[in-house]
Amino acid sequence: MINDDWEDSMEDFTFVNKTEVHFGPDRFDSELAPVMERFGKRILLTYGGGSIKKTGLYDRVIKALDGFDIIELSGIEPNPKIDSVRAGQKLVKEHDVDAILAIGGGSVIDATKVIASARFYDGDPWDLVLNPALRQKIDQLPFVDILTLAATGSEMNYNSVISNPDTHQKQGTRGPNSPAVSFLDPTLTYTVSQRQTAAGSTDIMSHLFEQYFDNAINNDVQDGLREGVMRAVIKWAPVAIEEPDNYDARANLMWASTMALNELLRQGNKNRWTAHAIEHQLSAYYDITHGIGLGILTPRWMTYVLSDETAPKFAQYGRNVWHLEGDQDMDVAKAAIQKTYDWIKALGVPMTLPEVGIDSDENFKVMAQAAVTGGKLDKVAFVKLKTADVVKLYEQSMTTEGFE
Ligand code: NAP
Ligand code: FE
Repeated sequence: MINDDWEDSMEDFTFVNKTEVHFGPDRFDSELAPVMERFGKRILLTYGGGSIKKTGLYDRVIKALDGFDIIELSGIEPNPKIDSVRAGQKLVKEHDVDAILAIGGGSVIDATKVIASARFYDGDPWDLVLNPALRQKIDQLPFVDILTLAATGSEMNYNSVISNPDTHQKQGTRGPNSPAVSFLDPTLTYTVSQRQTAAGSTDIMSHLFEQYFDNAINNDVQDGLREGVMRAVIKWAPVAIEEPDNYDARANLMWASTMALNELLRQGNKNRWTAHAIEHQLSAYYDITHGIGLGILTPRWMTYVLSDETAPKFAQYGRNVWHLEGDQDMDVAKAAIQKTYDWIKALGVPMTLPEVGIDSDENFKVMAQAAVTGGKLDKVAFVKLKTADVVKLYEQSMTTEGFE
């Protein structure tokens, strides 16, 4: 199962990140207009199912953008659907907008990135999702975001994940465009529910795990940074759930979201993600919340890939992140995985698939095949997995056996 190139050193890399970050409370009230003016006066506002209207954020943005010509695309759903991108493409073309302002979490920002590309594409935007090389050849509309949920890192990266319910596909895609400017105001996340806070924090941890459990060895600068961000999330997520308006908790989670996936921490890696590919199939088939799916799968995946060869890395995680002691790597590794499970559960994440409405194994094989193909899990994963391995992971996620 283990890779031939297990012992390779740090990979070469070129690191560029062009997103300008404005971090802190209430800054967008006065700074949004001058930022948007850099691009023009005609703006498409993109947002989700209405949380920004309930919280008053919508009114604040409209006030801040007095004098701008605003067109709106609302209703971008969690696990954003290609139809929302199609609707956005129509609007940006029809109104010839100068820029987009995305207000929301990862779903709104992910959809906005593809809409920004689709402005300069005449075909169906699903082509752009399936074939990101097309996006590299065309212009992009500039876009800005106001982040309202700490989770994905979409506020400072080039990635999107778009779903096509007709084909049961949830497809990751990478563009040449990241946000020009991101407003990160932790106070905007005070209204995020317990469930979404738990899901977002689990997603952040998963991004860190996917980069930490990698085959490039002696990548110590990166490992130290990742361990530091993990410790912050472990400390502050339970506080945010207990006290939703604790500024320090929300500020740490927001910056952790950005740092975990703004590409800084992945440099030098072989970039072999596993849990995300397996989770995307759960969201594609059952439209469950991404971070919840990851919370269920991650401890099972860790246990499944634990072996004499991988135990030292899991033990490093246990010692440096959970402050576990012990000479035996395998013992420390197992204890660290149990700690991970307990932490996710304590946030209130349902820990089995039946608890999120998946009570039959009817789709496991086809989902596992798609995960292995889509994520190249049999070719380039931290520990390679075949379809039968992924089926077992889904099966093991049906009960709490081994953890409780
Ligand atoms: P989300 O899907 O953007 O939002 C989840 C829910 O939270 C929505 O119902 C939203 O309501 C609500 N919400 C957002 N902000 C709120 C606030 N301040 N107060 C109250 N409710 C609020 O969640 P997300 O976790 O940020 O994004 C998940 C998506 O990103 C998934 O599709 C996932 O696969 C993808 N993802 C992307 C990346 C990347 O690198 N781009 C990485 C990982 C995951 P409204 O709709 O009403 O606003
Ligand atoms: Fe994620």
